[in-house]
Amino acid sequence: MSKYIFFSGGVCSSLGKGLAATSLANLLENHGLNVRMVKIDPYLNVDAGTMSPYQHGEVYVTDDGAETDLDLGNYARFTNAPIGKDNSITTGQIYQEVIRKEREGRYLGRTVQIIPHITDEIKRRILTVGRKPDVDVTIIEIGGTVGDIESIPYLEAARQMSSDLGKKNVLYIHLTLIPAVGGGELKTKPTQHSVKELREIGIQPDILICRAPEMLSSDVIRKISLFTNVEREAVIIGYDLKGSIYELPLVFRQQNMDAIVLKKLELEAGELDLSQWEKMVSICSSSPSVIRIGIVGKYIHLPDSYKSITEALVHGGIANNTRVDLIKIDAEDIENWHDEELAAKFADIHGILIPGGFGTRGTLGMIRGAEYARTHAIPCFGICLGMQIMVIEYARNVLGYKDADSTEFRPETKHPVISLLEEQVEITQMGGTMRLGKSASVLVPGTRIHEAYQSDSAEERHRHRYEFANSYRKVLSEAGLRISGFTPDGELVESVEWQDHPWGVGVQFHPEFTSKPVTPHPLFAQFIKASMNHEETRE
Ligand code: GLN
Repeated sequence: MSKYIFFSGGVCSSLGKGLAATSLANLLENHGLNVRMVKIDPYLNVDAGTMSPYQHGEVYVTDDGAETDLDLGNYARFTNAPIGKDNSITTGQIYQEVIRKEREGRYLGRTVQIIPHITDEIKRRILTVGRKPDVDVTIIEIGGTVGDIESIPYLEAARQMSSDLGKKNVLYIHLTLIPAVGGGELKTKPTQHSVKELREIGIQPDILICRAPEMLSSDVIRKISLFTNVEREAVIIGYDLKGSIYELPLVFRQQNMDAIVLKKLELEAGELDLSQWEKMVSICSSSPSVIRIGIVGKYIHLPDSYKSITEALVHGGIANNTRVDLIKIDAEDIENWHDEELAAKFADIHGILIPGGFGTRGTLGMIRGAEYARTHAIPCFGICLGMQIMVIEYARNVLGYKDADSTEFRPETKHPVISLLEEQVEITQMGGTMRLGKSASVLVPGTRIHEAYQSDSAEERHRHRYEFANSYRKVLSEAGLRISGFTPDGELVESVEWQDHPWGVGVQFHPEFTSKPVTPHPLFAQFIKASMNHEETRE
């Protein structure tokens, strides 16, 4: 039977609860245990698919096509736990299910209430993950902060699980903040209050993770332990990392967090083996070589909007023993720039990446970025919208179709090189109606993409509505835009490449979602390699 570990958060959001949860999972996995992750988002949206990246950061897509919170991407990068629809729970889903059952008459005339009906549905969803055969530990991250109205039913369900399954089978970890006030003095009061609030709900945390600017003195730790009733050894300090986020499991390990968890849950596990992880961390924290990649996108100002892409670039660096510096370029800024201005902007950039996105805004700047990369032999990687931009740019500047466009941006264009599939034209509902999740592509031998995957096929995740228009396949390929990947039925274009260029690859799918620091995605590894070659040849 699986053990269950609940992660809650206090004081404020964005303290890194997801990273903390997945770092513990990483340690347990490296002890040989079989771990599963669940993220709870206490909002009424059914999934993250309809949410703006500005509000919520990137939407992480799973193999089975769930559109989820970006924390699931962190789980995927730190662990090998399989992640799909079951691993993401929202209040929208819980209510949808309870109301559906109520309409079917499944509650047999009873009054349907938050306790027990909503809490039972929450527990049922969590147990669905933990009950799978061979699962040793299920880690559940409850989004939001203790004290929010929205998270109360989840905390209540978490509390009940300890009485349902027994104390040895359920563990509570609470993450709080130790802020520094004027003069740098570190304050424990918000942590004391936050734990008090959790205890009022009936949960005494077993382990406390204190987010702090630096390691705390033993006096401060003792004080926290005293006021919160958490054993001193179970007060773990999540101090600010100087290097990479991938150091966090090592920080927890130093403070014996894995041993404490195993002991409290009475779990037997193998020896911890972090050798592979440590080797990876040392490359991304201290490699002397640095490659600069420019990301030309529109959601540049929120760091989390391109989370999986920025991480996959770091992984591509790890594969090549280099660190990667990301230069964020707001596509809207460069729209009307002259070549000299672009030349100055791109002067010390070794590769350009054009990410996914929706809507017209910024697309002109992305087209400028693609054009500059193509005409100046700079490696260029287009992902989803980025691939569509590479196609539009090629049609405009090589074929001379000045109005070539996607019908997403200009429905009336005379040259719709990117357009909707017929079955998409009639769709009016927004949520969950795109081409979503994992599907196969056939790769053409002798192309860059074939070389990267070393295979005739690849399976990658999709999240888009528009497609390369087949009526333009012939003219564009004759003009030098090589079509290097198709769906197995040959109907849809999955990838394109610039011929006579060091490395220009556009893919309709999202390779960034499957890249891990210890197993970097081959396309990102190859893109960074090409960018390193570009640096050498330029010098
Ligand atoms: N907006 C484009 C489409 O729907 C690209 C989507 C994306 O980049 N994820 O096809």
